[in-house]
Amino acid sequence: MSRKEKKKQVAAIKGTKDILPLEARKWQQVETLIKAYCERYGYREIRTPVFESTELFQKGTGETSDIVMKEMYSFVDKGGRSLTLRPEYTPSIVRAIIEHRLYLQPQPMRYYYIGPMFRYDKPQKGRYRQFHQLDIEVFGEKDAAVDAEIVEMASGLLSQLKVKGTDILVNSVGCRKCRPGYHKELRHQAELARDSLCSDCQRKMSTNPLRIFDCKEESCREISQGFPKITDFLCRECDEHFKNFRSYLDLYGLKHKVEPRLVRGLDYYTKTTFEIVSTELGAQDAILGGGRYDDMIKDFGGPDVCGIGFALGVERLLSLVPQKKEPENIVYLVCLGEEAKKEGMLLAQYLHKENIECLLEYKSRNLSKQMSRANKIGATWVLIIGEDEIKKKRFQLKNMASGEQKEVAREKALNIIRGNI
Ligand code: AMP
Repeated sequence: MSRKEKKKQVAAIKGTKDILPLEARKWQQVETLIKAYCERYGYREIRTPVFESTELFQKGTGETSDIVMKEMYSFVDKGGRSLTLRPEYTPSIVRAIIEHRLYLQPQPMRYYYIGPMFRYDKPQKGRYRQFHQLDIEVFGEKDAAVDAEIVEMASGLLSQLKVKGTDILVNSVGCRKCRPGYHKELRHQAELARDSLCSDCQRKMSTNPLRIFDCKEESCREISQGFPKITDFLCRECDEHFKNFRSYLDLYGLKHKVEPRLVRGLDYYTKTTFEIVSTELGAQDAILGGGRYDDMIKDFGGPDVCGIGFALGVERLLSLVPQKKEPENIVYLVCLGEEAKKEGMLLAQYLHKENIECLLEYKSRNLSKQMSRANKIGATWVLIIGEDEIKKKRFQLKNMASGEQKEVAREKALNIIRGNI
């Protein structure tokens, strides 16, 4: 083995990234806020496995979607089963609902989850192979008011997180009654433009012409601008639902734009689709997207229970959220000598039990070195333990901001640190 080979290090996989402590703090802050926010709207957390049988996503996400066709992380396990790392969350929740008969609970049922998703897409800014989504789903409510409620909820969440410069885009993709008529017309128009479309879109013409709108090729995007709009083909029920949805958005005072090309990359949507995009994200501008999927549970062999939801990209969201500085209360124990170290270990144990963040180090260092270490880690308090202090069972407590120092017993130190005195 050459020296060069020996030194080669194993690196993180392309399209994945480490979340280091400073950044992880921001993740924790945002996740905590999101969870409390969801619970306020009556959502409850549901956690499912990271991998599922491949069939679940083929059936759920749809065999003609780009996710299933190109982006799944599928593998055969030692038992010869084809498994897939979840590329999205909805099929897993639907499976869990049917498997555990959660549909027997009072409806509507509201669920949320934050966790990693996996897609073999081309990595670029805002697009990763392992990324995280907040997923929100409501089951068992047909009324368009709930469609508006979840857009209001998403929009309110972004406001709470101080995300600015967002637009709400909405559309309706119809249902099984009205979509075939639209497909026919779309296929006809696409056929007329066949030679100018990319080979992928030519294939989509026969599989699922709606997917032409997802094409990332600029020329295809331009051509599809001229294609007929799905909203001109909606049946009475879908048209009325879309009108109601929009009127409820108006009721909430939510400005929105109808975007007829917004068909979303998944095959299961019916009626409402929506996205919230940011003017500050560049090419990957969607913060979140979702829609209604009224046939999915039924198609999976469950009862006729409708659903609606959205998925929000946590990485994209975090790139728009300013870091919040939280007040910290960290105690650093300066121990001078072996006996002081033992006393420090017991004092740390006491403070930890009292829910105080506190640390000490075990290397034998002089006072000034330990004080400079306390400064570096941003300690708000220092407790100095020397021979004298051990004898007296009293310690020097220093406030790092004011420089004030006092000799106190441990209970008094605790009260001062807590801000009770
Ligand atoms: P989708 O499930 O494709 O509708 O995506 C919902 C949201 O997840 C998007 O609006 C993005 O914010 C985020 N998202 C989707 N794919 C990726 C990816 N590959 N990397 C990072 N975020 C993503």
